[in-house]
Amino acid sequence: MSRNYYAYAIIGLRVPKDKIIGTVTKHRNRCRCEPQTDPMSEQKFCGNCGEILDRAYRADDLKFGMDGWDLCKEGIRGWPVAYDGDYGRYFYIGIRKASDGDKKPVDVRDTRTMDQQENKFKSDMVELGLWDPDEYGLWAVLQGSW
Ligand SMILES: [Zn+2]
Repeated sequence: MSRNYYAYAIIGLRVPKDKIIGTVTKHRNRCRCEPQTDPMSEQKFCGNCGEILDRAYRADDLKFGMDGWDLCKEGIRGWPVAYDGDYGRYFYIGIRKASDGDKKPVDVRDTRTMDQQENKFKSDMVELGLWDPDEYGLWAVLQGSW
């Protein structure tokens, strides 16, 4: 296994992970017998194979229908996304995202264009229920993967 690190500079919003990917409890019947034992029955284990009939487990609740790595590729509403990856605490949704893989510098020189983008960005984030003025700014993000 190798470790990979990516560094990003992002002008945008830091969002707690659970607003993007939450967790839900799901249930799975581990018995594969045919016919299936009625999962609504009082039995906890299958009488044939002995497997548990209603196993609860924690699963990702993908609020935007994608996992963290796909969100980093696809973005949210066209806005770029970075993720602190296996640190796993925050997503960063940006107006601009610059990374060490960029072939040319990403800069912001025309402040009027920046204002227009900022207004559109804020209204999109408000609509998505993600806006928090205290979490908006310039972020340096280290994304780790191992
Ligand atoms: Zn069974």
